[in-house]
Amino acid sequence: MTDSLQRSVVQELAARLEFYRELGIYDFYRRGAVDAQPATPATADLEVESLQAADPPASAEASSLTAVSPATISPAPDSFPPAIPAPEESTIPRRTLVSNQPVPPLVSFGPVLPAEQRPDALAAIRDLIGDCQRCRLAKGRNKIVFADGDANAQLMFVGEGPGADEDAQGLPFVGRAGQLLNNMIGATGLKREQVYIANIVKCRPPQNRKPEPDEAHTCTPFLERQIEVVRPRVLVALGATAATYLLGMRGSIGGMRGRIHDYRGIQTVVTYHPAYLLRDPTQKKETWKDLQMAMAALGIKAPSRAPQV
Ligand code: URA
Repeated sequence: MTDSLQRSVVQELAARLEFYRELGIYDFYRRGAVDAQPATPATADLEVESLQAADPPASAEASSLTAVSPATISPAPDSFPPAIPAPEESTIPRRTLVSNQPVPPLVSFGPVLPAEQRPDALAAIRDLIGDCQRCRLAKGRNKIVFADGDANAQLMFVGEGPGADEDAQGLPFVGRAGQLLNNMIGATGLKREQVYIANIVKCRPPQNRKPEPDEAHTCTPFLERQIEVVRPRVLVALGATAATYLLGMRGSIGGMRGRIHDYRGIQTVVTYHPAYLLRDPTQKKETWKDLQMAMAALGIKAPSRAPQV
């Protein structure tokens, strides 16, 4: 192996390690002197494998990765040849575009991230999405709608997918349904900025149709990782599409609401989508009961009187 080839391998490894760390995975050891794959102990193993699979081929990506300091790769005691210091930070630009590689579903949640690391971890997930071309929704979208709200929120709402207003602004729930969602959040005593809001798909489906299963399955791995980072205490699935792809349940909202579900250990409430409530306001009373249940699960007392939303 020439010096320059070794150097590029070290650069790529350093960038991969940094990427895993950005996603909250910290523990690595070397399998052996000649096996340069990063690996993790038992529980995180599958996750690292899945993240490795998510990475584009080195040839396409090596030039667009984040540099890390030499200290981030520590040589194994028995390694040979000796480790080469990582390059100067300024020589490798920040990761900018990763857009076509499928990202597999998350196998299990990693460790809870410290609050101060969560905004950067979310930014790393947004970087991973890049200028996404992974499904057909990319063709018709204007902006990718990643999320809105507090990276450390205790309460997270998941909707179906962006509509016209969201597609134009790049933010979830900013149209009429969003106004109603804001009122629903306000009724609980919280502000929109205190919760985290995302969708099953991040690009607007044409004519606001429901996302197709393949579109949802392509996109939800990012949502899973967002939930993993934010780690809300309570999730609220807005509408049947969110409930189906979060909980793997099919059926009417009437059959799924009114009780607490489990999403990877997070208490999850299913309720009506605000767009549905705009069409059938009589269900606001039931929705309010669901939100009260979510607040009780959070240990926060919500006003008992149904608000005017
Ligand atoms: N409907 C959704 O499901 N999500 C949005 O972001 C807006 C409307």
